[in-house]
Amino acid sequence: MNWLRKIVQLLSTDLAMDLGTANTLLYARGEGIVVNEPSVVALAKGSGKLLAIGGKAKAMYGKTPEQIDVIRPMKDGVIADFDSTRKMIDYFIKKAQGGRRVGFRPKIIIGVPSGITQVEKRAVMDSAAAAGAREVRLIEEPMAAAIGTGMPVGESCGNLIVDIGGGTTEVAIISMYATAYVESIRVAGDEMDEAVVRYLRQKHNLDIGVFEGERVKMTIGSAYPLERQIKMKVYGRDIVTGLPSSITLTNDDARAAIEEPIRAIFAAVRKALENTTPEFAHDISERGVVLAGGGSLIKGLGKALNAELKVPVYRAKDPLLAVVRGAGVTLEEWETYKRVCIS
Ligand code: ADP
Ligand code: MG
Repeated sequence: MNWLRKIVQLLSTDLAMDLGTANTLLYARGEGIVVNEPSVVALAKGSGKLLAIGGKAKAMYGKTPEQIDVIRPMKDGVIADFDSTRKMIDYFIKKAQGGRRVGFRPKIIIGVPSGITQVEKRAVMDSAAAAGAREVRLIEEPMAAAIGTGMPVGESCGNLIVDIGGGTTEVAIISMYATAYVESIRVAGDEMDEAVVRYLRQKHNLDIGVFEGERVKMTIGSAYPLERQIKMKVYGRDIVTGLPSSITLTNDDARAAIEEPIRAIFAAVRKALENTTPEFAHDISERGVVLAGGGSLIKGLGKALNAELKVPVYRAKDPLLAVVRGAGVTLEEWETYKRVCIS
């Protein structure tokens, strides 16, 4: 009765959500990814009136009159602003339901940072319920990322996943559908952007914004010396003259700029290997480490981590989609995966 199942699915549109610090993605059952937007909210200063959410809100950043606040409510992997987070969840769930007729209230699985507190869990669940969800379940992001990249999370071997997002990097070892080890550090993509900003100010007297810092990181940043030198023009303001200025920056510069945050991420991975059982350490040395999250797209990251730890390192095929895909698999194969949900 395939058609009958289809109709029921269309009516209920169960959802899976990756509530990331930088990007929020939603997967609709039987369909695939239906929302992929920045986790950004624009509010009017003073009144706090909601002006925009997602891509539209991000576009207002830095170009807006002073009466507008553009914020990332999940910035450091914790909910910095409960009210905005609630509005964001509500907006994205409604957007995912789009023009569909919603007959029944949907079930929704939400990927949350592993360091989330009880109060934050409650806030996320209440927000989803207020947006019309019938049943809300939570899954830790590293678990979802491991499932989404196809790691054998149900086997008794140790699976080491490193999810480098915007605000946090989560390092976890997963085995038999459970998290055997997890650490979340507040060093990830954002910290690299800020490191580029600091570097340019100190070494080149150039003041740039964080989005320009992010552009430098993505274009010429790397964790390992590149075979061919690459460079780009960077725009900002000269600290001494106060006037608009630009310089040409090389990969050598960009690599030096982001070295420190990358070291901190590698140290967290090393710590996981040092703190796990000899059996898991052995599994990992054979099966390798899997990198996911947007931060894993830094050039040469796998090569540098491999040189440092002497274990094989692989990057997920679409690292930005790993968590939402894993939450989607959990939704689609509920009987197998429901045990991984934390509430
Ligand atoms: P989160 O799960 O916290 O929402 P994401 O997994 O969506 O984070 O990753 C966002 C981070 O990935 C940002 O810091 C962004 O700058 C970084 N990123 C995205 N694409 C690239 C790239 N090509 N190279 C380096 N960093 C990237
Ligand atoms: Mg993420």
